[in-house]
Amino acid sequence: MNSVFSDSATTIFETMSQLAKAHDAVNLGQGFPDDPGPEEVRRKAAESALSGWNQYPPMMGLPELRQATAAHYKRMQGLDLDWEKEVMVTSGATEALAGALLALLEPGDEVVLFQPMYDAYLPLVRRAGGIPRFVNLRAPGWRINEEDLKRAFGPKTRAVIFNDPLNPAGSAFPREDLELLGRYLVRYGAVAICDEVWEHTVFEGPAHLPLMALPGLRGRCVKIGSAGKIFSLTGWKVGLVCAAPELMKVLSKAHQYLTFSTPPNLQAAVAYGLSLGDDYFRGLKARLRASHDRLAAGLEAAGYKVLPSQATYFLSVDLGPGEDDAAFCGRMVREARVAAIPVSAFYAENHLRNIVRFCFAKKDATLDEALRRLDSWKRGKV
Ligand code: PMP
Ligand code: GLN
Repeated sequence: MNSVFSDSATTIFETMSQLAKAHDAVNLGQGFPDDPGPEEVRRKAAESALSGWNQYPPMMGLPELRQATAAHYKRMQGLDLDWEKEVMVTSGATEALAGALLALLEPGDEVVLFQPMYDAYLPLVRRAGGIPRFVNLRAPGWRINEEDLKRAFGPKTRAVIFNDPLNPAGSAFPREDLELLGRYLVRYGAVAICDEVWEHTVFEGPAHLPLMALPGLRGRCVKIGSAGKIFSLTGWKVGLVCAAPELMKVLSKAHQYLTFSTPPNLQAAVAYGLSLGDDYFRGLKARLRASHDRLAAGLEAAGYKVLPSQATYFLSVDLGPGEDDAAFCGRMVREARVAAIPVSAFYAENHLRNIVRFCFAKKDATLDEALRRLDSWKRGKV
């Protein structure tokens, strides 16, 4: 058995969702919305399963989705992408990440990882033969520090995984940090695997800027998006990969042996969705902002210290010194019957242990019920 997986625990998301079920808790742990998602997009998937093509779609993805992806990123982010040479569809961002690491790394290559990091990164890097080099981002700003980059980059650096906006922090990096990282990519000849699944959730501050859009970085970035996040349908595993032709050639080879293709009805529905008017995308942000503000205000009123958040489905609470986030989440799910995620799960070393992540992408009634329970718990009434 391979030790990367035999030594791995069940992910924190699955663990907390199971605990939430067992304790009949309000689940603000794993990040998924509790509304059904845009009806017209779901209807398109249903129609296309009934009357469309249900056999293997082309390996690179349906042309209509690849065209829609290029047009969408042109409209929203000003990118010029050649849909035939620079866009590929995968089965979720997760497959895109795995494929990129398998395609880009030789055993012994070093990969810079920013902590806190999404849980899939490290096992995938290791399984692909990569050696992780960690950089810690520091709360509450979660900015990149040049001294840290100096220590992490070296002659063996092949890639960086760059998650912007950042899960679990809910932060987005300013242009200055992108430029700083870009200088190191160029200096060391490295490639950035840009996990931008949260690109459409920036509800505060400047609009999302893909690293790929910066001068000189077009050929050094693999941009990864996720339709699950864009349409609040997290069970739809449709990933959107954009990269310059030379990179895409090798990325597509990894994809062809991993999953080869992605359900065609979902691809057709995502193509339709990406072409929706700006209203849809503005509406998504407005809903996220309202839900964020509702949960943040309620948590603050109950005496919790809420850290700033401007994107994703998440906000964090600082427990202060002396608390252990995992123990706190364990007590909270059992006693208050509210599930959240301990941020220490996003670390492999030098863990931060005083921050807990809550998902606010929920109906008002769900958030209110969680807040009612947390308030009673805090006041010792449960
Ligand atoms: N990267 C990050 C940072 C995520 O938060 C997630 C899931 N929420 C993923 C990747 C996985 O995306 P997908 O469901 O499209 O595989
Ligand atoms: N990305 C989701 C989160 O951060 C979880 C995805 C998963 O459960 N694998 O909550």
